[in-house]
Amino acid sequence: MNVSPLMPVEEAIASLLEMAAVQRLDDSEPVLLADARQRVLASELVATLDLPPWPNSAMDGYALNVDDWDGQPLAVSQRIYAGVAPQALLPGTCARIFTGAPVPEGANSVEMQENIELLDDGRIRFKKPLVAGQNIRPQGQENRVGQVLLQAGKRLGPFELAIAAGQGCTHVHVVRRPRVALLSTGDELAEPGTPLKPGCIYNSNRILLSHWLGALGCDVIDGGVLPDQPQQTRLKLEQLQYSTDLILTTGGVSAGDADCLGQVLRECGKPLFWKLAIKPGKPLTVGYFGSVPVIGLPGNPMSALVTFGLLARAYLLRIQGVENVTPLSFPVSVGFDWHKAGGRREYLRARLEDGRAVPYGNQSSGILLSASWADGLVEIPQGGTLKAGDSARFIPFCGLL
Ligand code: AMP
Ligand code: MG
Repeated sequence: MNVSPLMPVEEAIASLLEMAAVQRLDDSEPVLLADARQRVLASELVATLDLPPWPNSAMDGYALNVDDWDGQPLAVSQRIYAGVAPQALLPGTCARIFTGAPVPEGANSVEMQENIELLDDGRIRFKKPLVAGQNIRPQGQENRVGQVLLQAGKRLGPFELAIAAGQGCTHVHVVRRPRVALLSTGDELAEPGTPLKPGCIYNSNRILLSHWLGALGCDVIDGGVLPDQPQQTRLKLEQLQYSTDLILTTGGVSAGDADCLGQVLRECGKPLFWKLAIKPGKPLTVGYFGSVPVIGLPGNPMSALVTFGLLARAYLLRIQGVENVTPLSFPVSVGFDWHKAGGRREYLRARLEDGRAVPYGNQSSGILLSASWADGLVEIPQGGTLKAGDSARFIPFCGLL
């Protein structure tokens, strides 16, 4: 029997995704391509154009009809640049053609200019054997009219926006942005630009998460900093519950006297789970306050980063309709020994060096420098040990953004 009171990471992710299914956003809006980066497509993008729209030349060279050619030099009957509509090819001639220009009707082959000889009389001698279709990009090679190019639920990055632009779209239809209230909790927090009183630290989680939320397509409602005070915490949550899709907090979810976020959620809301079998990030707390979901991240910057990246990110993408929310990962061989089999799944900040994962020297959950130094996270299974050269799962940070 599993006596551990800690919830396994997979179970917590599954629980968040169940919650996301209920909270799925169904409003959508048209947005300019220029503003659509990181948004999620609300309906499939269907091709209205064949691409290429006509056969075109893959080379600078000469177009001819090899089926109607005796191998002799040919006169040049026209010059075809990209962006012009050519005449049909005059029989018994070739056409000068440039990359991307339409292949004229009647031509079925293009020879690259490096393989011809320009004769004194202006005719072209083809030095090598030619075949039909060579160096021609056929109409519809990339896609045909009516083809589904991008599925609903696709996150739009530069590649997808370029595909939409290739169809002449000015706008795409995307799911509305999730409205996320971001709260930092802690009496010790000061904002950059204000004096640092004794015992205080600057708030680094706020900027970390507001940028990351933006990269996941969210609108951030900055709820500011909350003192460690149950009454004020409750009032703030009450105030935010009707205008947001999610309340995301940092700090105040551990077991200490001053950790009132978790306390308020348990007393006035509906907690779903807290205490995860994850390191860093054990105090992660998830639940509802009224009808609004609350994800309470731990305050330590690395704990907040790891739990946001592995859990909150999946939730925020799924409510926007993204199907595959599992971050990119791949096996790497580790460049270190890991002897202590822990009771929690561990994530080490590590760099890939010569194909091996090398961990940052200090894995304390307060050390944010480790994230900037590292390429991603090495996952050490609960109860697992490793020897240098063993294989472990690696989750690159770039796949989490
Ligand atoms: P807590 O989860 O509230 O117990 O906080 C754990 C640790 O993280 C404490 O050392 C806090 O001072 C620190 N911490 C909490 N919130 C932030 C924040 N917004 N920025 C930087 N450090 C924080
Ligand atoms: Mg605190």
